[in-house]
Amino acid sequence: MKHPGRLLAGVAALALAAAAGVVVSRSGDGAGPSGGTAAALQASGSPTPAALTDAQKTARAREVDVLLARRATAVLKGDLKGFLASVDAKQPRLVARQRTLFGNLRKFGFSSLQYFTADSWDAPQLAQKHGPTTYSTRVMMRYRIAGLDAKPVQTDLGYTFVRRGALWILVEDGGIDEILTRDGHRQPWDFQEVAVVRRGKVVVVVDRRETGLGRKVAKVSEDAANAVRRHWPRSWNGSVMVVAMAEPRVMATLWTSGNGRGWTIAAKAVTLYEGEQLGKRFGPPVGSRIVVNPAMRKDLEQDLLVHEMTHVATVPIGPRAPLWLVEGLAEYVRCHAIEDDPQWTVDPYRRTVRSKYLPGMTSLPDRETFDQDGDKAYGQSWWTVEYLASRLGTKKLAALYADLAVHSTSTAAYTAILTKHTGKTPAELTAAVRKYRG
Ligand SMILES: [Zn+2]
Repeated sequence: MKHPGRLLAGVAALALAAAAGVVVSRSGDGAGPSGGTAAALQASGSPTPAALTDAQKTARAREVDVLLARRATAVLKGDLKGFLASVDAKQPRLVARQRTLFGNLRKFGFSSLQYFTADSWDAPQLAQKHGPTTYSTRVMMRYRIAGLDAKPVQTDLGYTFVRRGALWILVEDGGIDEILTRDGHRQPWDFQEVAVVRRGKVVVVVDRRETGLGRKVAKVSEDAANAVRRHWPRSWNGSVMVVAMAEPRVMATLWTSGNGRGWTIAAKAVTLYEGEQLGKRFGPPVGSRIVVNPAMRKDLEQDLLVHEMTHVATVPIGPRAPLWLVEGLAEYVRCHAIEDDPQWTVDPYRRTVRSKYLPGMTSLPDRETFDQDGDKAYGQSWWTVEYLASRLGTKKLAALYADLAVHSTSTAAYTAILTKHTGKTPAELTAAVRKYRG
């Protein structure tokens, strides 16, 4: 904590970022089959290249699936030639991008990797450019990174192929990117050459020319993961990927948040789901990546990562914990991690919460409170969790979290679970928190 002043503002910005990552990432994405882009593509007037029968479409997808399977095998085996065999050799820039992609993919150490076709798309402008056999399709990439992903996760790509003789050839690797999952498809391996730095169970991704930064971030990340393990009683093995690249597009579209306040987000946790359909998450959350704001990647402090890693540790439990508990717990763990060092204290934060945020507290902070006044919402949430930990102990606090994260399917269920674990209704809990001095 070199900048105690940041304790308030920086933290709130950070926490809000994580809220966005954890709670709303990948929901509300309008780019689905009925979304604007797809509708525009289909309505743009060009006739379908050829009226393929369903059987022909199935055969085409099956043939491209064979090609995609070969590419996956090539990645796993380190066979660059095999990987590039399906790439249009007449396009040097495409070949160069694919070569970089291959080199990057090799650095991640996949324990499994599959590519397969998902939805095909009519993209008339691509058909015009590449001719009547043009086949644009969303491609799923389903993978596990060794030592990181407990279960396979998936992301999507937009590829365009044409038929040349008996072969399908990749002619575009970004022609239909606008229909893809908004945050998900821009993966760390999709841009410039990266370096992957592993330290313990932490995997850090940086630009290759910033490998030194990667080592620094890896050390800070491992310390942060250990801090979470000290203060969060449920098991978490500390496996996490931290992306700290200069490229701002990686798994992110926005680095500011908060109802027009323009806060700068320092880092966020992006949730991964077991399966993912176009624009919609489905299946249980299986993990997270932490993405660091490119502008702040060189000044990353441990407590910021502690907050995000608390989300990483708790996300797999379930998606239904209330925002005040999700963010309050991350702040609780962060503040305790800071005070593990006898040199540092969060007393200024405590004083601000007591004097500024508690007197007017009339309810547990909800989404609206977070949007309107992030500082206040995070402060109140933190204090609520401090109160609960002091009354219940961290084990029972974790049990409350787990129960809510899985079973809080309605307001009635939420109230019942909270009352069962704490002996208090939400209103009674609010009153107790307001009086709690720490
Ligand atoms: Zn957060």
